[in-house]
Order: sequence, then structure tokens, then C-alpha cells
Amino acid sequence: MILKTKGISSNIISPIVGRVTRMPSNNDGVSILLVDDDAGVSYFDRYSGVLSSLGYREIGNIPQVHSIPDLNHLSEGDIVVINADGVINTLYRVNSNHNSILVTERCNSNCLMCSQPPKDKNDIEYLSAIHEQLIPLIPKDCIELGITGGEPTLLGSRFFKLLELIKVHLPETEIHCLTNGRTFAWNNMVRELEKLNYQKLMLGIPIYSDYHAIHDYVVQAKDAFNQTIRGLYNLAEIGQRIELRIVLHKQTVPRLTKLAKYIYKNLPFVEHVAFMGLEYIGYTPHNINKLWIDPFDYNNDLEEAVEYLSSFGMNVSIYNSQLCVMPENLWQYARKSISDWKNEYLPECQQCTMLNECGGLFTWNLKKYSTHIKALT
Ligand code: SF4
Repeated sequence: MILKTKGISSNIISPIVGRVTRMPSNNDGVSILLVDDDAGVSYFDRYSGVLSSLGYREIGNIPQVHSIPDLNHLSEGDIVVINADGVINTLYRVNSNHNSILVTERCNSNCLMCSQPPKDKNDIEYLSAIHEQLIPLIPKDCIELGITGGEPTLLGSRFFKLLELIKVHLPETEIHCLTNGRTFAWNNMVRELEKLNYQKLMLGIPIYSDYHAIHDYVVQAKDAFNQTIRGLYNLAEIGQRIELRIVLHKQTVPRLTKLAKYIYKNLPFVEHVAFMGLEYIGYTPHNINKLWIDPFDYNNDLEEAVEYLSSFGMNVSIYNSQLCVMPENLWQYARKSISDWKNEYLPECQQCTMLNECGGLFTWNLKKYSTHIKALT
């Protein structure tokens, strides 16, 4: 799936965010017109920008990007940002339920299996300015919106402003924010969140072990376990909705049942616990010897942990895994969790009777997957 393209820009000084349209009648002054052929569009000044697969055309001072190789990946109503260098990023796809906002690439952890390794660059101002333009344009019937990073809470006060903006413009949308939860160890952060009283907000927080040293090793940050646990208790105190996330690999699997017991006994207030298959992207290929276990080989551990939590009434899911690799009694917990733009199946899957029910693989996991994947008949 293409989410980025580039052409030659003209008249663009700062990033422009807008909804794309192919209909010349949508000349509302804020839409961005897509031009694929030379059919006469005369009043270009009624658009906030023009994207064209054709060559340069004289349209006065209207921002334009021309000579774009292909515009077919854009649907009517998608929201894009046009940058001064001619790069066009898709920010929101109207035909998808898997949209998310990346708010910073900075992070205060450095996890062994991070799928989006942190970058130490000051991107917060640039991205915040874009998101302030984006959020009011998102359709009000948007079902779910993700917030990701990096670590979103590193935005500080801007994080709460962003949440407030979303709450005002998208009051019915479920918001799922991925955070390591560490900054909620500090009272001022929790108090800010409490003021928002945001019932549609779920925080997805990872916990990798019941033993502090293993968690800290996985996230490569000293004292992270203590901060996360303190953060979780602070969040529980204000009634914040929480999902715990556990990535399954060589460092986490050996103590999985102990972790499940720790969760039930110490964190019973969480709304959801997600066990997640490993993504073969970011740092993972570099750390693969420290991480890889064929998912088939951790079935017993996973089964014990999942059944333990479920037997006590906790809401449990398994993400990023394939039905043919796990025992049938775990199928009820398996979710089709992989976003549409990064979801793939193997040629083998085409013969499988469970193809429609199975979540398949991440695109990047086509390079690393269980040797036990086999079509079910
Ligand atoms: S063969 Fe493919 S579609 Fe069938 S269960 Fe396995 S991974 Fe899923």
C-alpha cells in the first residue's frame, strides 16, 4: 500500500493539510484537487492546492505538486499533507478503520523488538502543527483512531492539547493510544489526564515480565518496570481505561504464566490483555537471536497464560498470530489485528478453509514466520 509519493512542488512554503477530491465541483477553498487528465478545470484558486500527474501548469500562486508518478492510491476524501519538498503523505484514509496519528519518533525506551526505532530529532512542533490541521478534517463517523510514536506522552502539554482537540472534534471516536506508561509515574501527568475525563480513550501499555530486570532489559531502560507499574496504579486511581500488551519472544515467554498471575493479582483493573506475535521489522531482525522462538514452540506457555487470565474473567486476546500454528482452543482469543495496509497471507493460505477467519501475517513477517504454517482443510 502506498502512503507516500512525491512530485515537483511549486508555491508551497509550509505544509498544507487537506482533503483530496477529483470533483471540480468540490471547490470549497479547502480541498486539494487531484488532476489526472487535462480536462478543463479553470478555477484553481478555489482549492487549497493541486496535485497533478501531469506537467507544470500556470495557475498563479496556487500551491501545486506536479509530475507525480501516480495518484491512484488516493481515494475521494482521503486527507494528505503536501510538503514544500513535493512529498505527499497520506494522513487519513476514508476507506480504512486502521488510521493512526504518529505524534513523535522520540522515545524514552529503546525496546529490543521496537518496530519503529526511535529517532532523536525534534519532530514534535512539525507534527503537532500538521495534526492540528488534520483532526478537524477527519470525518465525524470515524470509528477508531490510533495515536502512536515513539512515546506520545513525551509531547508533554501538547499531548493533552491533542487529546482535547480530538475529544472536541471526534466525540464518538474510540481512541487507542500506545504508550509505555512510564511518564504516568509522575503525578502532574495523571492529573492532566484526569482533567480531560476522556472515556473514549484507551491506553495500550506494554509489560514484558513480572520480574523488573527482565522488563527493563527488554525495553533497554533502567527503572522502566517500576515507573510503568507506578504509572499503571496512578492511572487506575483516576479510572483510566488500560490495555496491557505483551509481545511474545524469547525474553518474555519463559515467565509468561508468572506474568499472567502477576497481572491478575496486581493489575486486575485493566480492561484488556493482548498477547502479541513478534513483528520482523525495526530492531527485531538485528536482535533476532535474542528474540526468535517459533510461535508453535510457545503454544503451551501461551495457552496456560491465556486460560489462567480468562478463567478469572479477564478479557484476553491474541494478536498477530496464525490459526494453523495454535491449538484450536486458543482460536476464540485470536483476533484479526493486523491493519489492512500491512496484512499479508502466504501462497499456502489460498488453499486454507480458515483464510477468512485468520489474521494472517505482517507484510514484513513474510521473511520470518513459523515453520508450522500449513493450510487447514
Ligand atoms: S494457512 Fe494461512 S490462512 Fe490458514 S490458518 Fe494458516 S496462516 Fe491462516
